[in-house]
Amino acid sequence: TKVLLTGGSGFIAAHILDQLLAKGHSVVTTVRSEDKAQHIREAYPSQTSSGDLVVAIVPDIAKPDAFDLVVANTPNLEVVLHTASPFHFKFKDPKELIDPAVIGTTAILRAIARSAPTVKRVVITSSFAAILDEAKFTDPSTTFSETSWNPVTIDDIHRSPATAYRASKTLAEKAAWDFVTDKSNNAKFDIVTVNPPMVFGPVVHNLAGGLQSINTSNERLVDLLQGKWKEGIASTGGGILWVDVRDVATAHVKAGLEIPEASGKRLFATAGLFSNAEIARVVRRDFPEYADKLPAESADAGGELPAEDQRFRFNNDATTKLLGIDWIPLDKSIGDTVKSLKTHGA
Ligand code: NDP
Repeated sequence: TKVLLTGGSGFIAAHILDQLLAKGHSVVTTVRSEDKAQHIREAYPSQTSSGDLVVAIVPDIAKPDAFDLVVANTPNLEVVLHTASPFHFKFKDPKELIDPAVIGTTAILRAIARSAPTVKRVVITSSFAAILDEAKFTDPSTTFSETSWNPVTIDDIHRSPATAYRASKTLAEKAAWDFVTDKSNNAKFDIVTVNPPMVFGPVVHNLAGGLQSINTSNERLVDLLQGKWKEGIASTGGGILWVDVRDVATAHVKAGLEIPEASGKRLFATAGLFSNAEIARVVRRDFPEYADKLPAESADAGGELPAEDQRFRFNNDATTKLLGIDWIPLDKSIGDTVKSLKTHGA
């Protein structure tokens, strides 16, 4: 199958690319610079020389015509996986997140509707950020599921960096559903969204800047291994759900290429609850070589889950059933992440 994968240099996308090529699919992936393109080509020399892997440059996804050329120049495209979107908190203006997220999503959909009639399905990497409601994190009577929508609006983007990111994902996902609903866009494809919470897992993409350039969701593991939690474990944050990157990649591949019934679905890809305290316990148990970086083993070290009556509920049974994924457990995911970070100097 011929697949277009946007943002191929990313943490999640690199795993998707790996799975697609291992299954023998033909992939065109986009990145922002020639330098990043070269790293990907070097990682897959045989697929690059056979033409099964093509890396194309799309410098700025916040332009409405960003994907026109690559889509028009890729004949017989069948599936598109759109992962490219900023996930960081190093911005001055929330528009640095909102524009690439929202314009990037409509740009890829518009390019496909106009010039790629062979595309049957587009999978969009959305997020639990588009499901949650910050005001309900501590509400035990709230159950987040595939049908839940974050009520955040563009007026809320200055509330906090986290809110700005959550708004970028929510508005981008809304724009995608609106696009395919609006008949005048002439979309001949269906869409699926994958909505993961915090994603942990081994790094297979090129870490150009070393551990400093670790992707946002693995940052806390680097912090832990570097001793930043020694005097107290950082707060877990309100999200408290997680998933392994390999399961997120599998969800994209299955939703895009293997499960026709995923059509029109939002896939809430999560393995369940985690806490920073639990992560620290796993590392203490399985990696004694980091003992002097870890916080003392005390009941008040911090980072525990909120009490049961102080946290939301979740239900992703529909997603688990549709995908048939046996979610990777936390201790395996953390163990594999630590081993991977070790190879990058942690
Ligand atoms: P990364 O930061 O590793 O990947 C983000 C990707 O998007 C990279 O390829 C990046 O390119 C690209 N990108 C970011 N901003 C722009 C921009 N302005 N113009 C062009 N490309 C851009 O993070 P993840 O792999 O975690 O994120 C991938 C997707 O998954 C995103 O859509 C994110 O919102 C979503 N997601 C991630 C979760 C997580 O916990 N990791 C949870 C839920 C959803 P470059 O390499 O050049 O920076």
